[in-house]
Parts: sequence; structure tokens; C-alpha cells
Amino acid sequence: MRKPIIAGNWKMNKTAAECRELITALAPKVKDATCDVVVCVPFTDIALAAELTKNTNIAVGAQNIAWADSGAFTGEISAAMLIEAGAEYVIIGHSERRQYFGETDESVNKRLTQALKNGLKPILCVGEMLAEREGGLTEKVCRTQVVGAFDKISASDAEKVVIAYEPVWAIGTGKTATDEQANETIGFIRSVVKELYGAKVADGMRIQYGGSMNAKNVAGLMAQSEIDGGLIGGASLKADDFSIIVGAAK
Ligand code: PEP
Repeated sequence: MRKPIIAGNWKMNKTAAECRELITALAPKVKDATCDVVVCVPFTDIALAAELTKNTNIAVGAQNIAWADSGAFTGEISAAMLIEAGAEYVIIGHSERRQYFGETDESVNKRLTQALKNGLKPILCVGEMLAEREGGLTEKVCRTQVVGAFDKISASDAEKVVIAYEPVWAIGTGKTATDEQANETIGFIRSVVKELYGAKVADGMRIQYGGSMNAKNVAGLMAQSEIDGGLIGGASLKADDFSIIVGAAK
């Protein structure tokens, strides 16, 4: 049995004051969750979020990690800094990083390696663009991204990774993949993990769906056999919506 995991991706939203307000409202609403609950917050909110979630069932994550330990990498943030601030999880390879900030399968692999080396729990994002889905390339793209991300990563490290399947055309658009589309592609991604690491790792790996998941569509998605939770953008910014999603992930 895989324990579902619901993670909020706040993206570049929420000042410290807003972070305080959201977590204070959220914590009592999700206290009885039977899934893992994570909020991936902007770097400047991590320490505060860690403080506010102490003695709750909410874990804190970041949205990126440098591949190097330290040094001349302007604008990047190291594993040690994230851990010191209180991050437990880190999103790696989000499509917005791939689209707008030049993230490649190679850089995703380096960041993933660094997160694992430092004991951070990675949420690795993969997913196809609209033209790729329409061109029948969904599986090819997902395979390339998964194989690239896990290059030279051992099975014992791989099993610590959560994958988020996020079709790019469904992110922030209000368009969700159908339950069947999401389930089918996640099943395919699991089969790629099985090719790489065998059935035990594949069967144990948690693979989330992400892309306009909300309080209304979560039940249908979570009822699918392959879907182990969600990575939630827009709907994670409101305590009521996010807590409904958490409550549906049983
Ligand atoms: C995301 O940012 O990972 C995401 C899925 O966003 P949204 O839920 O807003 O589509």
C-alpha cells in the first residue's frame, strides 16, 4: 500500500505575513489527514513555515535546489541552506523551471542527485506539453524525462523519490487531464521505473498527478489505481480548498 501524498506548490506566492495566515488556517483543517501533507513554499517562507508547522502533520518543502554544495552560483540555494531553514522536501524539475529557466533533464538529474545525497525528499516533476500530447509523444517525453532524471541514481535512492506527473497543458489552465488519461500515463511512468529499478521500487514509488487538481475533481483522480496523490498549485493557496483535497486523499 502506498501512502498518498498531497503537496502544495505555492510557486512565487505568499509573503511571510500571508504564509503565516495560510498555515495558521490550514493546520487545524488537515490535522486528521491520513495522507502525507506538504507545503512547498518560497525560500523566504521556509523558516517561518517550519516554525509554524512544528507539532503539526504538515511538512515543509522548497521549490528548487542547487546541484553544488556552495560557491559561485548566484541566485541558487544549497541543500544545507534548505535543511537549516527547515525544508524536508524539494520540488525538482517543475515545468515552469524547464520552460522559463532553462532546466534540462541533465540539470534535473544533478539537482536530484544533490537532494538525495543530502537527505532531502525530492518531488520530481515530469510531463508533456500540449503539442506533444497531440502528437502522440506523451510516453516518449515522459520516458525521456524519467530516464534522464534517474541517470546514475541507485535503487536505494530512487525509492525515496516522489514523482509528480504534470501534463504542462493542465498546469494553471483549469484544464485537467481526465481521470483515465492521468491514470494511464502514471501507470506508464511506473512501468518505466520498473524497467530501471524492478518491480519492488516501482510498486512502492508514489506518483502524484498535478495539473489543475482542485476540490471538485480530486475524488475522481484519487479513485484511480495508479494515482498516489497530487501536486497542487492554485488550489493550495486557499486553506479551505487545499484541506478538501487533503481530506479526499485517503
Ligand atoms: C503545479 O504548479 O504544480 C500545478 C499543478 O499547478 P496548478 O494546480 O495551479 O495547475
